[in-house]
Amino acid sequence: MSAKKGLKSRDQIDPKYKWNIEAMISDESTIDKDLQKIKNQADKYAAKYAGHLGDSAQTLYDAFASRDRIMRKLEKIFVYAHMRRDEDNANSLYQGMTDKAMAVIAYVSAVTSFFTPELLSVKRKTLLGFIEENPELKTYEFVIKDALRQKEHVLGKKEEAVLAQMGEVTGATNDIFTMLNNADIRFEDAVDSKGRKHPVTHGSYGKLLESKDRVLRKSAYDSMYDAYKGLINTISTAYNYNTKTDVVSARIRNFGSAREAALSGDNIPGSVYDNLVSVVNENLPNMHRYVALRKKLLGVDKMYMYDMYVPLIKIPKKKIPFEEGLDIIREALKPLGRDYIRKMNKGISQGWIDVYENKGKTSGAYSFGCYDSYPYILLNYADTLRDVFTIIHEMGHSMHSKYTRDAQPYIYGSHSIFTAETASTVNESLLMNYLLDQETAPRMREYLLNMYLEEFRTTLFRQTMFAEFEDITHKAIEAGQVLTSDWMCEEYQALNDKYYGPAVERDDTIRYEWARIPHFYNAFYVYKYATGYSAATAICSKILTEGKSAADAYIDFLRTGESDYPIELLKIACVDMSGPEPIRKAMDKFNELLDEFEGLVNKR
Ligand SMILES: [Zn+2]
Repeated sequence: MSAKKGLKSRDQIDPKYKWNIEAMISDESTIDKDLQKIKNQADKYAAKYAGHLGDSAQTLYDAFASRDRIMRKLEKIFVYAHMRRDEDNANSLYQGMTDKAMAVIAYVSAVTSFFTPELLSVKRKTLLGFIEENPELKTYEFVIKDALRQKEHVLGKKEEAVLAQMGEVTGATNDIFTMLNNADIRFEDAVDSKGRKHPVTHGSYGKLLESKDRVLRKSAYDSMYDAYKGLINTISTAYNYNTKTDVVSARIRNFGSAREAALSGDNIPGSVYDNLVSVVNENLPNMHRYVALRKKLLGVDKMYMYDMYVPLIKIPKKKIPFEEGLDIIREALKPLGRDYIRKMNKGISQGWIDVYENKGKTSGAYSFGCYDSYPYILLNYADTLRDVFTIIHEMGHSMHSKYTRDAQPYIYGSHSIFTAETASTVNESLLMNYLLDQETAPRMREYLLNMYLEEFRTTLFRQTMFAEFEDITHKAIEAGQVLTSDWMCEEYQALNDKYYGPAVERDDTIRYEWARIPHFYNAFYVYKYATGYSAATAICSKILTEGKSAADAYIDFLRTGESDYPIELLKIACVDMSGPEPIRKAMDKFNELLDEFEGLVNKR
């Protein structure tokens, strides 16, 4: 990364725009000693509890509780060091502190790794008896029962030991792809309509595809896919074996399929996946209508996939200073109720947010923290409307953490991806609806509607298309097929045709897109973006139509952390993801937005 000109150094930033990280750890001088202490405690822990978890209800409770105490202290130091490092990555002190904390995490994990296998070796009846006997152990009832649920997929001691050793090599396919994709691959420069060259990287590609210069867009697109085409046999082989690893591992662990194995962690029924794919498929004609509208707005005879990301509606850039951005989100989040706004305002004044970019600061945005800290937010706020969406998104995560940590014990104090993105997306949807409510100027409405529709396209449709692809490839392996590059490219092309419809010209390029998606090496994961988005859309509609009762139910959901399975937790917010309803509601919203967008465009 090149240093940006005129960027302030960290100490030149007004303290009121920096997060109050001192509230987390005010004296760093004891950190080294504290880490050593934690290591010693872990050693003592293993000596005391290994081999004794089944002794008595009291011993089991003590083992759970003291493991939590050790992890809690360690997590706090790690999160602190990590956030300090993010303030200025050139500061080697905090890089060193982060590395030390990570080394202790690895040490403690290894020393306490006896815990789960040993817990599972205790008889089911004994464990359930312990829970009845010791009221304190009730806190851990859900984790214990969840471990018992997964017990049928745990093999004998010998087999587990062999599998653990094999684990050192089964990640190879992912590592090979990562190396290929991040280190070895070379992209030709893209060339614009004036003959100027533009370097193509994973980072610059998205921006190049948003360029108004169509020659440049096409050139970047060709450069990207030429590179993958040149490596397609190697990538296909890596992906074939990666998929095979999923299938074989699932079989070894007595799962019916690779998908069943992947979904079992969150205890998600396969029907959730199938509902997503089938409801989105039913609604593809509306996606095609949207794509056709894009073609019309671009005014091109033939539209290609490289025309899919260029913004359709241009509006004059308006600066939104940070304080004004906060006022907007306060108004937008009002439907969530007074308590939410009050807690949020208190958080802002306590110094949750690190607002502006400075030299060396980590880019992007996140919500982070631990059970014993504020739920901090890192931003690189640059006064745009996009940045206001970023604040409200990260605030969604932070408020989720706040409500959860106030209500749950440490063990349930975080969130699964399945529920986490729901909380951030509800906030984004509320902001979008608020802005649309305020806006009357047709061009500005078009801009917002288009932004909203693009979210649907990229999160709900595109991720579902990926989910469908993963399902197809895993089923093929399960049926005994080998995944060849030709077959995968054809399957992918067919999916792309199906999702984007007849308004897009077929070319020989997009068929290689699957080869550049790193998420495919972590199968059956991306569907969570699509389901999370649908759940959030359904919740937002409920809050806006039903008011307080729906908002209160949603706040209750925010308090639940990881105290149950995601599908059960979402039911608290009155969304039942085990049926097709939330996906249908999301699709209805898409269609409603599209109707208005189309109407405005046709009226021009
Ligand atoms: Zn997020």
